[in-house]
Amino acid sequence: MKIGVCCFCSKPVDEVGLDPCTLSIATNGEGSQSWPCHGECYVERLGDLPYGRELFENED
Ligand SMILES: [Zn+2]
Repeated sequence: MKIGVCCFCSKPVDEVGLDPCTLSIATNGEGSQSWPCHGECYVERLGDLPYGRELFENED
């Protein structure tokens, strides 16, 4: 089942494992938006996370 398109790589994000992950942005103003994405794409681009990295560790 296809959920949407990854906001990083523009490929479809299937419902598998931890995916789809959701990237949510809230600006200092009123704006906020969220997009589906692959967990893998997320980790790749975030670099060294100071915390929260365990969110992306698949348990299976
Ligand atoms: Zn992706």
